[in-house]
Amino acid sequence: MKYQNNLEFAKQQDKEDPLAPLRNQFHIPKDKNGNDWLYFTGNSLGLQPKATKEYINQELEDWANLGVEGHFEAKNPWLNYHELLTDKMAKVVGAKPVEVVVMNTLTTNLHLLMVSFYRPTKTKYKIIIESDAFPSDRYAVQSQLKFHGFDDETDLIEWKPREGETLLNIEDLETILEFEGDEVALLLIGGVNYYTGQFLDLERIAQMGHAKDCIVGIDLAHGAGNIQPNLHDSGVDFAAWCTYKYLNAGPGSLAGLFVHEKHAKNKKLPRFAGWWNHNKETRFNMRKPFDVMEGAEGWQLSNPPILSMAAILASLDIFDKVGMDALRQKSEKLTGYFEFLINEIGSDDIKIITPSNPKERGCQLSIQVKKADKSLHKKLTENHIITDWREPDVIRCAPTPLYNTFEDVYRMVSILKGLL
Ligand SMILES: *Cc1c(COP(=O)(O)O)cnc(C)c1O
Repeated sequence: MKYQNNLEFAKQQDKEDPLAPLRNQFHIPKDKNGNDWLYFTGNSLGLQPKATKEYINQELEDWANLGVEGHFEAKNPWLNYHELLTDKMAKVVGAKPVEVVVMNTLTTNLHLLMVSFYRPTKTKYKIIIESDAFPSDRYAVQSQLKFHGFDDETDLIEWKPREGETLLNIEDLETILEFEGDEVALLLIGGVNYYTGQFLDLERIAQMGHAKDCIVGIDLAHGAGNIQPNLHDSGVDFAAWCTYKYLNAGPGSLAGLFVHEKHAKNKKLPRFAGWWNHNKETRFNMRKPFDVMEGAEGWQLSNPPILSMAAILASLDIFDKVGMDALRQKSEKLTGYFEFLINEIGSDDIKIITPSNPKERGCQLSIQVKKADKSLHKKLTENHIITDWREPDVIRCAPTPLYNTFEDVYRMVSILKGLL
């Protein structure tokens, strides 16, 4: 792709972009003068689809008109509401429907998955995470280590970038496993790293972990709706992700959970129980002994919040119509253009730390601005450019293919250049 550093080119790209009309399906925040913000934090909180209100209103109306009968009589009966999400969510992450359920929130799901999949023994108990893991994931695995009576410092192995580098090298994980793999019970890795935007080779990580009899779990918070993780084919044992980042389902909305088919039907796997992972057929008999359901649904505990699920359905209906292939195609172009423009600034003080290979990244570019401090981020925000600042000197910026334009990217880089 040949890019050009001018506004006309950016506008022409938008004109030729078959996905451009999708932007109209989203509420774009505006400044006082009615101009759209340049919103680049779909990796933190995705924008609201205009249809979301209708989806939620439908459930509010059914609740108002039907009360408890809504469980059976609502337009979308609440009893099976979560099933409306399953196929669509499975497509987004490349899984079979039996492997996927939407429930709880992300960190909660990680814990419930570790109840089943972190089963340490006296000799095989360590956990591997990436050194720049998202704090919630680190706290979660550390608390699991402590809960099982292990040491949350020495029994936690960090997969680190090499001296002087920022990105992870998969060969280093191989080396860790070669030397310590026999003592490792679990790998919990961010599929797309929240800080660098690096998309790791999930299949290879699964193969390497399994070769040492380790369980491999993936946090897909920055992957779901962004890249194609092909969860089933990758062979990873489990995964979890939130729906408020690239999946645009609203602040604190419910999370996704994946359990690979090879485990999903194993009713003997230890797990926590509630009435919602009990066999659907006899759930309401109320007096039957616990009889676990097959599939990822067998990890549910509670009847779910329908209002949050309505927002997820509104969003997944958009993903389902567009498809991840088309989204990825645009995303590679859009982020490629962003990278091109940043490089055109031609300053030694600016460095993109995200991999330049499109196969090793999603939308996000993490841009290190040497000698800058948080005042740069403040100035960007004053210009209605919404980005995310990470200390000491990194701007995380994610043009998302559903609602960002080539013009957004062009304008952002022009203003950034001016501020430098
Ligand atoms: C966003 C994010 C979280 C947030 O966890 P919640 O339980 O949804 O608050 C956790 N882990 C990763 C990797 C994230 O990107």
